[in-house]
Amino acid sequence: MNQTPRANRLHIGLFGRRNAGKSALFNAIIGQDMALVSELPGTTTDPVFKNFELLPLGPCVLIDTAGLDDTGALGPQRIRKTRQIIKRVDIAILVLDPYQKIDAFEKQLLEEFQREKLPVIKVVTKADTAPVNYIQQAKDELGPPVLAVDSYTGTGLRELTTRIIQAAPEDFDQVSLIGDRLPSTSTCILVCPIDSSAPRGRLILPQVQTLRDLLDYNHQALVVKDTELHRALDALSAPPDLVITDSQAFASVHAQLPREVPLTSFSILFARYKGDLPTLLAGTAAIPQLKNGDRVLIAEACTHHRQTDDIGTVKIPRLLKQLSGVELDIQHSSGYHYPDDLDQYALIIHCGACMINRRQMLSRIHQALEAGVPIVNYGLFLAYAQGILPRVLEPFQDELH
Ligand code: SF4
Repeated sequence: MNQTPRANRLHIGLFGRRNAGKSALFNAIIGQDMALVSELPGTTTDPVFKNFELLPLGPCVLIDTAGLDDTGALGPQRIRKTRQIIKRVDIAILVLDPYQKIDAFEKQLLEEFQREKLPVIKVVTKADTAPVNYIQQAKDELGPPVLAVDSYTGTGLRELTTRIIQAAPEDFDQVSLIGDRLPSTSTCILVCPIDSSAPRGRLILPQVQTLRDLLDYNHQALVVKDTELHRALDALSAPPDLVITDSQAFASVHAQLPREVPLTSFSILFARYKGDLPTLLAGTAAIPQLKNGDRVLIAEACTHHRQTDDIGTVKIPRLLKQLSGVELDIQHSSGYHYPDDLDQYALIIHCGACMINRRQMLSRIHQALEAGVPIVNYGLFLAYAQGILPRVLEPFQDELH
C-alpha cells in the first residue's frame, strides 16, 4: 500500500468551518488519532495528509484542512492553503456543524466545489446529539442528500464510505486489462469458443476489450476457437507468453496446454480490471463451507438473452451442487437490480461485470463486504471448480501477496 505514489491515490478533502468536527471525522475515517481534535476552534492550521486504503476502492489520501472561516492573525494564509487543497482533491466532503447556522458561507463553498466540478458529499457531524430538524434544515438549504455521521459512535460511517466509493471518478486507479503486465512485444493466444451460448456474428465485450488492450501495448494476439488451439500452438515457433481463455473452456484448454505455458481467463482479467482480485479470490474460501439450505446469489450486471446451458442459470448452479454436495437455495439478480439485504446470502457469485463501470462493481463488492458475505466472480469460481485456481492466478502472483 505504501508503494502507491500519492499522485495515484484518490484525494479526499474535508472542508468546512472551524470546529465543525473535521478532525474528529478525519480520525474516524482513518481509524486512528492523527489529527488533533479539540473543542477550541482552529486547531488544524496546516492541512494534514494521511495515506490509507479504502476497501475495496484502493489507495486514497485523506486531507484535513483548516476552517475556511479562520479569523486569526494567520487566517488569510490558512484559508489560502485550504483553497489550494480544493484544487487538488477528487472528492470534497463538506462538513457541517449542527450547532452552527447554515448560511451564505456553506452555499459559497458549495459553489466553489461545483466550479471545480468536484463530487461533494455533505455530512452533518455530531449526529447522535444534533438538534432534531438540523438534517432536514441542511437538506432544505443545501439540497439533498445530506449524511448524518457521528465520529465518536460510528453512526453513518459505513454510508459515508459507500458514498465515497460511488463518488470516485470512473477512471480512478484504472489498470490495463493485461497489456501492461506482459513483457514488451509478447504473443498471446485468445481462446474464444463459438458455441450455442456465443452471440451470433460477433465476439463478446471482454474478448474485444482484451484484444484492444493487447494491441494498445504492441503485443500480438492470435484469436482461436478452443477446438483450434492445438493448431495455433503448432503454428508458433515458440510457446505463447500467455493464453487467455473463456472461463467456460478452462478444462479443455488446461488439458491441451503444456503446464509451463501461462494460462488465465477473460473473467479473471475482469476480476482485476473491474473489481478487486484479492477480495474476489478470498471469496472462494467460502465455497467448501456451504451447508444445506444456504442461500447463494448469482448476480449478473446485465440482462442479456439467456441461451441453452446458460452459465448463470444452468452451468454454475449445476457445478455448485456437484461441488458442495448439499441442497442450496440459489437466487438470481440481473441488470441494475442488486439486492439491498445481502446478509441473507452465504455466498455471492458475480459475473465479470463487463457492462458496468469499475466504480459500480467496487460498490457491489463493498456492499457484500459490509454485509459480511463472501463474493467471487464467475472466472474464479470456474477455476476453483476445475481445480486450476493456482495456475490461472500465476500471472498475478505479485499482486496477491
Ligand atoms: S455484464 Fe456480466 S452477464 Fe452481462 S455480458 Fe458482461 S459479464 Fe456477462
